[in-house]
Amino acid sequence: PFEVLIVGGGPAGAAAAIYAARKGIRTGVLAERFGGQVLDTMGIENFISVQYTEGPKLAAQLESHVKEYEVDIMNLQTATALVPAGADGLHEIRLENGASVKSKTVILSTGARWRQMGAPGEDEYRNKGVAYCPHCDGPLFKGKRTAVIGGGNSGVEAAIDLAGIVAHVTLIEFDNQLRADAVLQNKLRSMPNVTIITSALTTQVLGDGAKVTGLIYKDRETDATHTVELEGIFVQIGLVPNTEWLKGTIDLSPRGEIEVDARGATSIPGVFAAGDVTTVPYKQIVIAMGEGSKAGLSAFDYLIRQG
Ligand code: FAD
Repeated sequence: PFEVLIVGGGPAGAAAAIYAARKGIRTGVLAERFGGQVLDTMGIENFISVQYTEGPKLAAQLESHVKEYEVDIMNLQTATALVPAGADGLHEIRLENGASVKSKTVILSTGARWRQMGAPGEDEYRNKGVAYCPHCDGPLFKGKRTAVIGGGNSGVEAAIDLAGIVAHVTLIEFDNQLRADAVLQNKLRSMPNVTIITSALTTQVLGDGAKVTGLIYKDRETDATHTVELEGIFVQIGLVPNTEWLKGTIDLSPRGEIEVDARGATSIPGVFAAGDVTTVPYKQIVIAMGEGSKAGLSAFDYLIRQG
């Protein structure tokens, strides 16, 4: 069995693996796709001390850094269940292929995924004008026209954030009213370069083959369709944590995120969590790495107290 088994090979899992392995304890990482969301990212400009990098390059560097240490990497493996430790003191992770892996401590770092609109053109123009992270990609649209899809807290926050950078923001909400907190709505409505459209379904992302040029939405009250010309579309209809396989086993927030304390401890002793899958706010690479490092150290600390 492992002393530390990390489930998830994104920035959080890679950081946890390096911190654990550097303590000389038996460390394993299992991941559906080593690299995680970073693999789907183009330009990265906020990975502090690295002015610019690209997702696939950073993912390869994560893997080669982990491989500097004696870490067992089990790539292309999907965890389907966590069975908390019984009398033998070993937690069990069951895999889709029928196998299972045991460990004294577990670090859950299975990340999250952005909910997509499912509109034609969305996939085609992903990273070519269709974006999901305003903290990451907002500055790329400086002086340009953008839309934010979604009028919940994250959509309205994104629209306020973008309005300070871009030329114009059109906020499109499906419901007949915004769902964000009133204080955020008031702030948004006070901004001069914002248009709010409610009862609207985005039906298509338009582009010229290389980049986004607009979108089409349907007014749900009249069924009329309208075209908005723009350069960027931020989809903010939810970030879904990859915890479906943990429901009923570990404490999750109402949004399905793993509840963690300041040390990354979960509701199960010896099981820690880090990164986008947890309740820790702001889903970013540097934050996931910091949290993963903390979880690695916490797992080590837990082990030395077990005697
Ligand atoms: P993830 O990167 O999501 O990794 C999760 C890992 O868990 C993966 O290896 C996955 O395969 C694995 N996994 C999931 N479920 C299972 C399972 N059941 N069994 C086994 N393995 C599983 N952040 C920035 O800081 N700057 C940026 O510029 C930036 N741009 C982004 C652009 C895009 C398009 C996207 C999608 C995200 C971007 N982000 C950016 C956010 C950043 O990628 C995430 O915050 C970060 O990757 C989170 O790391 P993580 O390790 O917590 O999770």
